[in-house]
Amino acid sequence: MEKIISLTKRRGFIYPGSEIYGGLAGAWDYGPLGILLKNNIKNYWWNRFVLKRDDIYGIDAAILMNAKVWEASGHASGFSDSLVECKKCHHRFRSDHIKDKCPDCGGNLTEEKQFNMMFKTIIGPVEETGAQIYLRPETAQGIFVNFKNIIDTFHPKLPFGVAQIGKAFRNEITPKDFVFRVREFEQMEIEYFIKPPKKNEWEKDFDYWLKQIHEFLEEIGLNKKNIYDREVLGKDLSHYSKKTIDIDYNFPFKKDEIVGFAYRTDFDLKAHGLDYYDEETKERFIPHVIEPSFGVDRLIFALLCEVFEEDEMGGEKRIFLKFKPNMAPIKVAVFPLLKNKPDLVKKSREVYEMIKKEIQPVMFDDNGNIGKRYRRQDEIGTPYCVTIDFETLDNNTVTIRDRDTGQQERVKILELTNFLKNAILE
Ligand code: ATP
Repeated sequence: MEKIISLTKRRGFIYPGSEIYGGLAGAWDYGPLGILLKNNIKNYWWNRFVLKRDDIYGIDAAILMNAKVWEASGHASGFSDSLVECKKCHHRFRSDHIKDKCPDCGGNLTEEKQFNMMFKTIIGPVEETGAQIYLRPETAQGIFVNFKNIIDTFHPKLPFGVAQIGKAFRNEITPKDFVFRVREFEQMEIEYFIKPPKKNEWEKDFDYWLKQIHEFLEEIGLNKKNIYDREVLGKDLSHYSKKTIDIDYNFPFKKDEIVGFAYRTDFDLKAHGLDYYDEETKERFIPHVIEPSFGVDRLIFALLCEVFEEDEMGGEKRIFLKFKPNMAPIKVAVFPLLKNKPDLVKKSREVYEMIKKEIQPVMFDDNGNIGKRYRRQDEIGTPYCVTIDFETLDNNTVTIRDRDTGQQERVKILELTNFLKNAILE
């Protein structure tokens, strides 16, 4: 895991938050390659679940919401973890994450007490009672409070869903494991509304969505042998859920949740006093809801663990990220064989501009020798490198090198963009 974390920093994927001031626990910044990867995941999700479907509406609700939302949803009173403190070193821990002694110094622990995980803040210029609000701990409530707006403007028939991607904040007692447990993160959530089910009718929707989640995870490049369903039972089940399955990924530190999947019944709409009028049956009722909830940061981390590879090529050790082309931050890199030959550089620039018109992002690199450039692209997972050499000047062909095999192929410049497009869309 240390190797992955150090690569992400060295190559501009993820930096520790506020680093020059000593950092801030549970906060990480995404660098130029990290944001490309993050956007690949978010855009793929949005296309798959919103744009390519007719039954899901996308929204982007405000992070700041009226405090009454969190009272109604049960978060103000119930969104807490139980906390213990070491009597000796005063470090604090989530009691379900540790045994009966302090993991840092072996000291005795206090009794458990409940700790609400919502960040509080004050709205407006005066710190008076009533001005306190929360940073949202999940995006879901932004969807529920817009349920009536969606009905009034689009008149959707059940079943239908509302999707949102956005930041969520939780004052985690012990942020840890890189971007796995952080205090500021991003979620991609769908609330899928169904008619109030007779008996177990909801199970078919539940099974359908579970399958959709698994398909998505494999499409972005997670191997199904590393993905596990774990039903959440007993006291671990959230206050709103009748059935929850956590979808876990086999991280190097342990198997843990990347997607939460819950049948939330009619809990939330009922709590907000919202309902649905069925024009066909002339009935008024409260829909039930199935919720797949994806954590963007945990997906990024899982994907980095999945694609991180080490091997030997040409007698040298190398690290490469075996991203599927759809997730690779940079799709193609273009190099002149030699930096100090103006003809090669000029031709490379032309080829670079030509590819860039149809494929983005493409990187131009003329720094260091060609072997080093290949290694640099391998480390960030660029699937194809195009090199312009002396033969290019004679016959308008270039070499294309495949990241995973290191093999090179000569292709005509005229056919290059199509060749790359096919290879990347594969
Ligand atoms: P955990 O049990 O690990 O604290 P949770 O069950 O509280 O997680 P959910 O409320 O189901 O998590 O949130 C849905 C998704 O949001 C999670 O599957 C995860 O991907 C993401 N998520 C939740 N909390 C965090 C966090 N502190 N840091 C990063 N991602 C998070």
